[in-house]
Amino acid sequence: MKIFQNLSIRNKLIVIVLMVSLLSITLGSAFVIYNNIQTFKDNMISSTDQIAQFLAEACGAPLAFEIPEEVEKELNKLKGMPIVENGYVYGEEGEIYKSYNKSGDHFTPPPPKDETSVEFKGEYLHVSRPILSGSERIGTLYIRASTAPLTQKINSYLQGMLLGFIGLVVLTYLLAVRLQRFISQPILKLADVTGHIKEEGDYSVRVRKEGEDEIGVLYTGFNDMLEQIQMREKQRDEAMAEQQRLMAELADKNKELEQVVYVTSHDLRSPLVNIQGFSRELNYSIDELISLLRSEEMPAHVKEKFAFILEEDVPDSLKYILSSTAKMDSLLSGLLKLSRVGRTATTMGDIDMNELIAEINNAFEFHFKDAGVAFTVDNLPSCFGNNDELNQMFSNLVSNSLKYLDPKRPGKISITGRREKDKVTYCIEDNGIGIEKEHQKKIFEIFHRLNPDDSQGEGLGLTIVNKIVSRHNGKIWVESEPGKGSRFFISLPAAKANPPVQ
Ligand code: ADP
Repeated sequence: MKIFQNLSIRNKLIVIVLMVSLLSITLGSAFVIYNNIQTFKDNMISSTDQIAQFLAEACGAPLAFEIPEEVEKELNKLKGMPIVENGYVYGEEGEIYKSYNKSGDHFTPPPPKDETSVEFKGEYLHVSRPILSGSERIGTLYIRASTAPLTQKINSYLQGMLLGFIGLVVLTYLLAVRLQRFISQPILKLADVTGHIKEEGDYSVRVRKEGEDEIGVLYTGFNDMLEQIQMREKQRDEAMAEQQRLMAELADKNKELEQVVYVTSHDLRSPLVNIQGFSRELNYSIDELISLLRSEEMPAHVKEKFAFILEEDVPDSLKYILSSTAKMDSLLSGLLKLSRVGRTATTMGDIDMNELIAEINNAFEFHFKDAGVAFTVDNLPSCFGNNDELNQMFSNLVSNSLKYLDPKRPGKISITGRREKDKVTYCIEDNGIGIEKEHQKKIFEIFHRLNPDDSQGEGLGLTIVNKIVSRHNGKIWVESEPGKGSRFFISLPAAKANPPVQ
């Protein structure tokens, strides 16, 4: 059954037609053969019986008048019947009166029968008929006829039938091969079209309908389905094209924005440096003026006024100018740092995080000691990324942990990490002031600061961290409880050359 299921449709149809035809031809032929063989036998029986009947009648008178030569003469007429091998005439008592033996072979005739009898036995047909004189039985005629001609006739008939049968089978096969196309061809055509669609992804093809039968309905359904897929493909292509256009527009705008931030933060710093420099110069000049003022002779009230302006007003204003420019300077350098992330070509590779954190530890050692902070680091798994950017990212996070420690308790900062499949997750934990739930997402936004007056900063540190993380296809999230501390998690791609031991 499995072999049949795996046959092609074409071969399945041929096999089905052949099987059905063979079965009906075989049954029909068997019926015809049986009937014809019966007819052949009946014909032999009736012709032999007729001979026996004639002979019995012809022998009646010579036997009644006991003329043996005449009986023998009649029996010898059997020579004209080649199928008759033996003929016997029995007398009234059952004794053999006269006999005829065609081949002369020894043969023991059966005892005479009372009734007329015709029967096939062995390779002969045995016929017995009573010999009558009037209505009185005076003897018996027995004839033995060979069935060899009948067998030969049946054999050649069977051979003919066999040839006919073979011819019919061949004809049926040829017809099946030709006719199966009406069913298999449309299905194969459909399979061809499906194969073409699968290989080329071309949904514009259609199958040409050739009739209104079930296959025609299937073709219509198939074409409708292709139409719908093609329509959806078109919509999807259009949506993708639109998406790509928007992405390109967004990338352009992003680039433009980065350029603006870069140019602004870069270019604004030189006039700022000038303002800072000249303000300092002004400061020196004022100091000089004050010393001059102290030495020169001048009316006391004018001197007092000058002194007030030079010692109070001007230094006050200069102080504000200097602190504002310092603030502006740090803001601009923060923006510059932000815009620089990703501007330069970054080389990515496996990063030994233990080494990287050791460098950060060195840089912050003084601050840790100064603030009395316990800084601990686990053995960290390596990751894949850019050394400078990751250094910047961890420095910002460590710096924040230091900056937002709780003055009420000794500070603790730790860095841990673990590897899972092709990802590593690091955690920077502190026991600082913590962050309220509603601010935990917003702190990654640009310029977002929670308590601007309590600490120094521009609200750019975490924005830079976020940008570096996304450039590394990583993730960052925070878990924090106000008054207890914060845990910043960073997930990054794991180092490639150092796969985990399975
Ligand atoms: P900045 O530190 O310059 O203000 P950041 O972008 O680095 O800017 O941080 C944004 C805000 O997130 C900070 O103002 C601070 O309120 C909060 N924050 C960041 N790190 C921590 C931390 N470890 N603990 C408590 N608050 C933090």
